[in-house]
Amino acid sequence: MRLQIENMTFSYGDRKAIDDICLNVKEGEFVGLIGPNGSGKSTVLKNLYRALSPDKGTVTFDGENLFALSHKKAALKLGVVGQENDVPFDFLVEEIVAMGRSPHKKFFDFDTEQDKNIVRHALEHLGMEAMAKRNYLHLSGGEKQRVIIARVVAQETDFLLLDEPTNHLDISYQLQIFDFVKRLGVTVLSAIHDLNMAALYCDRIYVLKDGKVILRGTPEEVLTPRNIFDVYGVRSDISVHPATGKVAITYLPEALGGAKHSTTP
Ligand code: ADP
Ligand code: MG
Repeated sequence: MRLQIENMTFSYGDRKAIDDICLNVKEGEFVGLIGPNGSGKSTVLKNLYRALSPDKGTVTFDGENLFALSHKKAALKLGVVGQENDVPFDFLVEEIVAMGRSPHKKFFDFDTEQDKNIVRHALEHLGMEAMAKRNYLHLSGGEKQRVIIARVVAQETDFLLLDEPTNHLDISYQLQIFDFVKRLGVTVLSAIHDLNMAALYCDRIYVLKDGKVILRGTPEEVLTPRNIFDVYGVRSDISVHPATGKVAITYLPEALGGAKHSTTP
């Protein structure tokens, strides 16, 4: 499943939040969207999962116009984990995960054995099987996040749009979720807050600032001390970690001499 965004622009009222963005994700790639708070990451994703619609530009999935697809057809192609995942009623955890099956069914269809198995496996993968009968609203932020990820797993799409999916999670679940998504082998576009996580998991990265794509490339190309300083105003030291073979970033706060560090701008 390929995603191609061309010249996408979006404004909230008269405030431009996305300015002429071009971005593509190839089949099987894990692409990260990084950038400071307010740079437009969530707005890009919302324009893709159709919570918003672009003022200009085109978006195609495998060459098909995304906006011409029915909602059901879009939900069969595209799984979404948004940044806020409030569920208004007191559903059970297993009911929320079962909602992931709805694009595969007609309105009044009952859950089949196959649906139930898929839901059970999704909960097991996220370590949530013991919580299947719990009320979603009574869970912690991190537990809720894992339920929402289980739901998108149960949806069985080839493409995932993720908006900072590990935000509320402690480090073991952050790694578990990203490892798990990697193992699914699906195509992914994910906003990622943590640059070290982006370095570990992304094949390519797009950097947004003020609604524009200002950098793109592999983690090694994009995550340099100069770029990190230009985008975030923070000094850093970068090495390739011997165990992971991936770029590892150490931030150099002023209090610890970062301002004087010689390898950074
Ligand atoms: P990010 O996800 O990178 O933190 P967002 O896409 O949420 O950034 O926001 C991009 C810009 O759009 C910010 O300046 C933000 O304040 C603004 N914005 C986001 N949502 C709204 C909204 N519903 N109405 C008006 N402005 C918004
Ligand atoms: Mg956001």
